[in-house]
Amino acid sequence: METGISRRGLFGAGAAAAAILAGAPATARAASGLTLRWWGNNGWEVRIGPKTILIDPWPTRFKTGTYTSAGADPRTPLSVNRELIDGYLDRGLLRADHILVTHGHYDHLTDVPYLAQRTGATVLGTETHLSLMAALGAPEDQLAIATGGEDLTFDGYSIRVLRALHSATGTRARVAFPGTRTLSRRDRPRVIADLLEGGTLAYQVSGGGASVLDFGGSNYVESELAGLRPDVVLVPPGGAKVTEYVPRLLRALGNPRYVAATHWDDFDLPLGRAHDPNGGLEVLRKAVAAASPGSEFVVLDHLGEFTP
Ligand SMILES: [Zn+2]
Repeated sequence: METGISRRGLFGAGAAAAAILAGAPATARAASGLTLRWWGNNGWEVRIGPKTILIDPWPTRFKTGTYTSAGADPRTPLSVNRELIDGYLDRGLLRADHILVTHGHYDHLTDVPYLAQRTGATVLGTETHLSLMAALGAPEDQLAIATGGEDLTFDGYSIRVLRALHSATGTRARVAFPGTRTLSRRDRPRVIADLLEGGTLAYQVSGGGASVLDFGGSNYVESELAGLRPDVVLVPPGGAKVTEYVPRLLRALGNPRYVAATHWDDFDLPLGRAHDPNGGLEVLRKAVAAASPGSEFVVLDHLGEFTP
């Protein structure tokens, strides 16, 4: 972690605790009842009281070559590290009442069918996401379809689903592994190219007096954000082809108090110490500072926690 970047993930302390450590005045806002933990890539755990909501959990992190000059090998076989996941589940470090899927790609969806089976969690995603997960063996009665626009209330927390967009890269601003499929248990995905994007959703989770908004790709639908005022927004680096990617986003959200980086680490490496493969984190930090100087830029290490 570099100087100037929040290190609270390393200390496991929330905003209130960090403020006390820093000798902040007593007027500092009390910590909320919502705690975030980063599981690498766009994997987030949102804890609200006894409830846990996971977004795009992918502890397995197999090697694909994504960050090499050749890019990800589309024939990379899909695999789930059950031993690793069981270890977290059995020690009570990982649980879920809901699992929210932003899109179908391997670094977001691969572990969800097994996690759903082990936790009994309700899983939200588009028809394509649910189809891919059903074909991978997810318990079908736990799959709940979403299209964006849903505002759902559960015991102690609410989930707002937003239409969103996937990152578009290269000179032609193209989406990787694009496409959709209808609901089917057939055609089990075998390699990463089988996991189609299938539409992209963003999620705002609220409860415990706070709210967090997550984007699993570096793009968004601005009109979907009207009136949203999350305490924390989770933003991936990138967005080079998106007009005013960071300033337009933060303006639409009323300059959130916390902007936390997501999807910035090299996921060819196992969970441990997060490594930025291409300097995207620093570019994002500067863009946030320029667009919304009042926002605090938060960077967690793997399994680091943050309470807004
Ligand atoms: Zn993707």
